[in-house]
Amino acid sequence: METLTRESGIIYEFNKENTYNKKVASGTTIKIETYDCFQNQIQSEETVVDEINWNNINPATGPIYVEGAMPGDVLKVKIDEIEIGNQGVMVVGPNLGVMGHRIEKMTAKILPIEGGKVRFNHIEIPVNKMIGVIGVAPANEGINCGTPGPHGGNMDNKMITEGATLYFPVFTEGALFGLGDLHAAMGDGEVSVSGVEVPGVVTVSLEVIKGESLQHPMLENEEVFTQIVSASTLDEAAKVATEEMIQRIVHKSELTVDEITMLMSAAGHTEICQIVDPLMTARFVVPKWLLKQLNVKLI
Ligand code: CA
Ligand code: ZN
Repeated sequence: METLTRESGIIYEFNKENTYNKKVASGTTIKIETYDCFQNQIQSEETVVDEINWNNINPATGPIYVEGAMPGDVLKVKIDEIEIGNQGVMVVGPNLGVMGHRIEKMTAKILPIEGGKVRFNHIEIPVNKMIGVIGVAPANEGINCGTPGPHGGNMDNKMITEGATLYFPVFTEGALFGLGDLHAAMGDGEVSVSGVEVPGVVTVSLEVIKGESLQHPMLENEEVFTQIVSASTLDEAAKVATEEMIQRIVHKSELTVDEITMLMSAAGHTEICQIVDPLMTARFVVPKWLLKQLNVKLI
Protein backbone atom coordinates (compact mmCIF):
# COMPACT_ATOMS: atom_id res chain seq x y z
CA MET A 1 0.00 0.00 0.00
CA GLU A 2 1.08 3.59 -0.62
CA THR A 3 2.15 5.51 2.49
CA LEU A 4 2.93 9.11 3.39
CA THR A 5 4.88 9.64 6.61
CA ARG A 6 4.58 12.84 8.59
CA GLU A 7 8.33 13.42 8.24
CA SER A 8 8.00 13.46 4.46
CA GLY A 9 5.64 16.39 4.32
CA ILE A 10 3.34 18.60 6.36
CA ILE A 11 1.60 21.87 5.56
CA TYR A 12 0.28 24.64 7.80
CA GLU A 13 -1.95 25.98 5.07
CA PHE A 14 -3.93 24.55 2.19
CA ASN A 15 -2.61 26.43 -0.82
CA LYS A 16 -2.63 25.73 -4.55
CA GLU A 17 0.97 27.03 -4.66
CA ASN A 18 2.16 24.22 -2.32
CA THR A 19 4.47 21.63 -3.85
CA TYR A 20 3.00 18.16 -3.47
CA ASN A 21 4.79 15.57 -1.32
CA LYS A 22 3.17 12.58 -3.00
CA LYS A 23 1.52 11.91 -6.36
CA VAL A 24 -1.03 9.10 -6.70
CA ALA A 25 -3.41 7.74 -9.32
CA SER A 26 -7.16 8.14 -8.85
CA GLY A 27 -8.37 5.03 -7.02
CA THR A 28 -5.30 4.78 -4.77
CA THR A 29 -5.55 3.68 -1.14
CA ILE A 30 -2.92 5.37 1.01
CA LYS A 31 -1.88 5.34 4.68
CA ILE A 32 -1.22 8.86 5.97
CA GLU A 33 0.66 9.40 9.23
CA THR A 34 -0.25 12.50 11.26
CA TYR A 35 1.03 14.58 14.17
CA ASP A 36 -1.47 15.80 16.72
CA CYS A 37 -2.65 19.42 16.34
CA PHE A 38 0.25 20.65 18.51
CA GLN A 39 2.73 18.77 16.32
CA ASN A 40 3.31 16.46 19.30
CA GLN A 41 4.91 19.30 21.32
CA ILE A 42 2.87 18.57 24.48
CA GLN A 43 3.96 15.23 25.93
CA SER A 44 3.41 15.99 29.62
CA GLU A 45 1.31 18.31 31.77
CA GLU A 46 4.53 20.04 32.81
CA THR A 47 5.02 21.38 29.28
CA VAL A 48 4.50 25.10 29.60
CA VAL A 49 1.77 25.54 27.08
CA ASP A 50 2.50 29.24 26.66
CA GLU A 51 5.99 28.35 25.48
CA ILE A 52 5.22 25.86 22.76
CA ASN A 53 5.76 27.07 19.21
CA TRP A 54 2.33 28.33 18.18
CA ASN A 55 3.49 28.58 14.57
CA ASN A 56 3.62 24.79 14.45
CA ILE A 57 -0.08 24.22 15.02
CA ASN A 58 -2.57 22.10 13.10
CA PRO A 59 -0.13 20.50 10.67
CA ALA A 60 -1.82 18.47 7.92
CA THR A 61 0.16 15.70 6.26
CA GLY A 62 0.35 16.22 2.51
CA PRO A 63 -0.33 17.62 0.09
CA ILE A 64 -1.14 14.65 -2.13
CA TYR A 65 -1.56 15.29 -5.85
CA VAL A 66 -4.32 13.06 -7.26
CA GLU A 67 -3.79 12.44 -10.96
CA GLY A 68 -6.62 13.55 -13.20
CA ALA A 69 -8.23 15.92 -10.69
CA MET A 70 -9.08 19.22 -12.39
CA PRO A 71 -10.88 22.35 -11.16
CA GLY A 72 -14.64 21.69 -11.21
CA ASP A 73 -14.29 17.95 -10.45
CA VAL A 74 -15.09 16.28 -7.15
CA LEU A 75 -12.53 14.42 -5.00
CA LYS A 76 -14.05 11.41 -3.24
CA VAL A 77 -12.26 10.43 -0.03
CA LYS A 78 -13.32 7.20 1.66
CA ILE A 79 -12.01 6.89 5.22
CA ASP A 80 -11.11 3.23 5.51
CA GLU A 81 -9.38 3.22 8.88
CA ILE A 82 -8.25 5.58 11.68
CA GLU A 83 -5.54 4.32 14.06
CA ILE A 84 -4.74 6.59 17.01
CA GLY A 85 -1.91 6.88 19.53
CA ASN A 86 -2.26 5.77 23.16
CA GLN A 87 -2.12 9.24 24.72
CA GLY A 88 -4.26 12.30 24.03
CA VAL A 89 -3.95 15.92 25.11
CA MET A 90 -6.54 18.62 25.76
CA VAL A 91 -5.98 22.30 26.49
CA VAL A 92 -7.95 25.27 27.75
CA GLY A 93 -6.75 28.85 27.84
CA PRO A 94 -7.77 32.50 28.12
CA ASN A 95 -9.82 33.64 25.11
CA LEU A 96 -9.94 30.13 23.66
CA GLY A 97 -13.29 28.57 22.96
CA VAL A 98 -16.68 29.25 24.50
CA MET A 99 -15.36 29.43 28.10
CA GLY A 100 -12.16 31.36 27.38
CA HIS A 101 -13.35 34.44 29.30
CA ARG A 102 -13.55 32.32 32.48
CA ILE A 103 -10.19 30.61 32.16
CA GLU A 104 -7.13 32.27 33.67
CA LYS A 105 -4.16 30.42 32.21
CA MET A 106 -3.21 27.90 29.57
CA THR A 107 -3.47 24.38 30.94
CA ALA A 108 -2.83 21.03 29.28
CA LYS A 109 -4.16 17.67 30.40
CA ILE A 110 -2.67 14.38 29.26
CA LEU A 111 -5.25 11.64 28.78
CA PRO A 112 -4.23 7.96 28.50
CA ILE A 113 -6.18 5.98 25.88
CA GLU A 114 -6.71 2.29 26.49
CA GLY A 115 -9.26 -0.40 25.71
CA GLY A 116 -11.53 1.90 23.74
CA LYS A 117 -11.66 4.52 26.54
CA VAL A 118 -10.03 7.90 27.13
CA ARG A 119 -9.14 8.20 30.83
CA PHE A 120 -9.84 11.63 32.38
CA ASN A 121 -9.10 11.43 36.14
CA HIS A 122 -11.40 8.55 37.26
CA ILE A 123 -13.76 9.18 34.34
CA GLU A 124 -13.80 7.06 31.20
CA ILE A 125 -14.89 8.63 27.90
CA PRO A 126 -15.74 6.26 25.04
CA VAL A 127 -13.28 6.61 22.16
CA ASN A 128 -14.93 8.29 19.17
CA LYS A 129 -12.12 8.62 16.61
CA MET A 130 -12.42 11.41 14.06
CA ILE A 131 -10.44 13.71 11.76
CA GLY A 132 -10.44 17.46 12.54
CA VAL A 133 -8.54 18.81 9.51
CA ILE A 134 -9.09 17.35 6.04
CA GLY A 135 -9.32 19.08 2.70
CA VAL A 136 -7.93 20.24 -0.61
CA ALA A 137 -6.26 23.44 -1.84
CA PRO A 138 -8.76 26.34 -2.00
CA ALA A 139 -9.57 28.39 -5.10
CA ASN A 140 -7.73 31.60 -4.24
CA GLU A 141 -5.11 32.48 -1.64
CA GLY A 142 -3.97 29.87 0.91
CA ILE A 143 -6.05 29.16 4.03
CA ASN A 144 -4.27 28.13 7.24
CA CYS A 145 -5.05 24.66 8.53
CA GLY A 146 -6.89 26.07 11.57
CA THR A 147 -9.64 27.58 9.43
CA PRO A 148 -12.42 25.68 7.64
CA GLY A 149 -13.97 26.67 4.30
CA PRO A 150 -15.35 25.43 0.97
CA HIS A 151 -12.09 23.45 0.61
CA GLY A 152 -12.72 21.58 3.90
CA GLY A 153 -9.87 22.26 6.35
CA ASN A 154 -10.54 22.48 10.10
CA MET A 155 -14.20 21.43 9.96
CA ASP A 156 -14.00 19.56 13.31
CA ASN A 157 -17.01 17.46 12.33
CA LYS A 158 -17.37 14.31 14.43
CA MET A 159 -19.01 12.51 11.49
CA ILE A 160 -15.61 12.48 9.74
CA THR A 161 -14.78 9.03 11.01
CA GLU A 162 -14.09 5.46 9.90
CA GLY A 163 -16.46 4.33 7.17
CA ALA A 164 -17.48 7.86 6.13
CA THR A 165 -16.92 9.17 2.62
CA LEU A 166 -16.20 12.84 1.98
CA TYR A 167 -16.68 14.69 -1.30
CA PHE A 168 -14.65 17.87 -1.89
CA PRO A 169 -14.89 20.43 -4.67
CA VAL A 170 -11.59 20.44 -6.61
CA PHE A 171 -10.16 23.94 -7.11
CA THR A 172 -6.73 23.19 -8.54
CA GLU A 173 -5.02 20.57 -10.68
CA GLY A 174 -4.27 17.47 -8.58
CA ALA A 175 -6.60 18.70 -5.79
CA LEU A 176 -3.63 18.80 -3.31
CA PHE A 177 -5.26 16.78 -0.54
CA GLY A 178 -4.11 16.67 3.09
CA LEU A 179 -5.30 15.72 6.56
CA GLY A 180 -4.35 15.94 10.24
CA ASP A 181 -5.68 16.93 13.68
CA LEU A 182 -7.09 13.56 14.74
CA HIS A 183 -9.28 13.39 17.83
CA ALA A 184 -9.80 10.32 20.05
CA ALA A 185 -13.10 11.94 21.04
CA MET A 186 -14.89 15.24 20.49
CA GLY A 187 -18.43 16.45 21.12
CA ASP A 188 -20.44 18.53 18.67
CA GLY A 189 -19.30 22.14 19.11
CA GLU A 190 -15.76 21.36 20.35
CA VAL A 191 -16.49 23.96 23.03
CA SER A 192 -13.02 24.22 24.62
CA VAL A 193 -11.35 24.58 21.17
CA SER A 194 -9.66 21.22 21.66
CA GLY A 195 -10.81 17.65 21.16
CA VAL A 196 -8.83 14.78 22.69
CA GLU A 197 -5.89 15.57 20.39
CA VAL A 198 -3.89 12.56 19.18
CA PRO A 199 -1.37 11.59 16.50
CA GLY A 200 -2.25 8.61 14.32
CA VAL A 201 -2.45 6.94 10.93
CA VAL A 202 -5.39 7.30 8.56
CA THR A 203 -6.04 5.02 5.59
CA VAL A 204 -8.03 6.71 2.82
CA SER A 205 -9.01 5.85 -0.74
CA LEU A 206 -8.86 8.81 -3.14
CA GLU A 207 -10.90 8.95 -6.32
CA VAL A 208 -11.60 11.70 -8.84
CA ILE A 209 -15.24 12.07 -9.90
CA LYS A 210 -15.99 13.82 -13.19
CA GLY A 211 -19.35 15.29 -14.15
CA GLU A 212 -20.40 16.37 -10.65
CA SER A 213 -19.68 19.67 -8.98
CA LEU A 214 -19.90 21.00 -5.44
CA GLN A 215 -19.65 24.34 -3.70
CA HIS A 216 -18.88 22.90 -0.25
CA PRO A 217 -17.87 19.47 1.07
CA MET A 218 -20.44 16.70 1.47
CA LEU A 219 -20.22 13.59 3.66
CA GLU A 220 -21.90 10.22 3.33
CA ASN A 221 -22.06 7.30 5.74
CA GLU A 222 -24.25 4.19 6.00
CA GLU A 223 -27.31 6.11 7.17
CA VAL A 224 -27.12 9.68 5.88
CA PHE A 225 -25.89 12.24 3.37
CA THR A 226 -24.77 15.61 4.74
CA GLN A 227 -23.84 19.05 3.40
CA ILE A 228 -21.07 20.78 5.40
CA VAL A 229 -20.71 24.58 5.36
CA SER A 230 -18.50 27.00 7.33
CA ALA A 231 -19.32 30.70 7.73
CA SER A 232 -18.63 33.62 10.05
CA THR A 233 -21.76 32.81 12.07
CA LEU A 234 -23.43 29.51 12.90
CA ASP A 235 -26.75 30.93 11.60
CA GLU A 236 -25.31 31.54 8.19
CA ALA A 237 -23.47 28.21 8.07
CA ALA A 238 -26.67 26.30 8.96
CA LYS A 239 -28.80 28.21 6.45
CA VAL A 240 -26.36 27.82 3.56
CA ALA A 241 -25.92 24.10 4.32
CA THR A 242 -29.69 23.64 4.33
CA GLU A 243 -30.29 25.60 1.13
CA GLU A 244 -27.47 23.90 -0.78
CA MET A 245 -28.79 20.47 0.20
CA ILE A 246 -32.36 21.37 -0.77
CA GLN A 247 -31.18 22.87 -4.05
CA ARG A 248 -29.21 19.72 -4.88
CA ILE A 249 -32.15 17.42 -4.12
CA VAL A 250 -34.58 19.60 -6.09
CA HIS A 251 -32.19 19.54 -9.04
CA LYS A 252 -32.02 15.73 -8.97
CA SER A 253 -35.66 14.91 -8.15
CA GLU A 254 -39.09 15.25 -9.68
CA LEU A 255 -40.49 17.26 -6.78
CA THR A 256 -40.74 21.03 -6.38
CA VAL A 257 -38.74 23.23 -4.05
CA ASP A 258 -41.93 23.60 -1.94
CA GLU A 259 -42.26 19.85 -1.50
CA ILE A 260 -38.56 19.19 -0.86
CA THR A 261 -38.53 22.02 1.71
CA MET A 262 -41.45 20.35 3.53
CA LEU A 263 -39.72 16.96 3.44
CA MET A 264 -36.46 18.44 4.77
CA SER A 265 -38.38 20.15 7.55
CA ALA A 266 -40.06 16.84 8.40
CA ALA A 267 -37.03 14.55 8.27
CA GLY A 268 -33.77 16.50 7.72
CA HIS A 269 -31.56 17.75 10.55
CA THR A 270 -29.54 20.94 11.05
CA GLU A 271 -26.56 20.10 13.26
CA ILE A 272 -23.50 21.84 14.71
CA CYS A 273 -19.99 20.65 13.88
CA GLN A 274 -17.97 23.27 15.75
CA ILE A 275 -18.42 26.79 17.17
CA VAL A 276 -14.85 27.72 18.12
CA ASP A 277 -12.67 27.93 15.00
CA PRO A 278 -12.23 31.20 13.05
CA LEU A 279 -15.38 30.24 11.10
CA MET A 280 -18.29 28.18 12.47
CA THR A 281 -19.23 24.87 10.83
CA ALA A 282 -22.70 23.35 10.47
CA ARG A 283 -24.08 20.36 8.61
CA PHE A 284 -27.46 19.57 7.14
CA VAL A 285 -28.23 15.86 7.41
CA VAL A 286 -30.62 13.88 5.22
CA PRO A 287 -31.43 10.23 5.94
CA LYS A 288 -30.75 7.82 3.09
CA TRP A 289 -34.16 6.16 3.47
CA LEU A 290 -35.66 9.42 2.30
CA LEU A 291 -33.29 9.87 -0.66
CA LYS A 292 -34.05 6.28 -1.64
CA GLN A 293 -37.79 6.94 -1.75
CA LEU A 294 -37.15 10.14 -3.72
CA ASN A 295 -35.03 8.07 -6.10
CA VAL A 296 -32.27 10.69 -5.77
CA LYS A 297 -28.57 9.92 -6.02
CA LEU A 298 -26.80 13.02 -4.68
CA ILE A 299 -23.35 12.17 -6.13
CA1 CA B 1 -9.45 21.13 14.91
ZN1 ZN C 1 -7.95 19.07 17.02
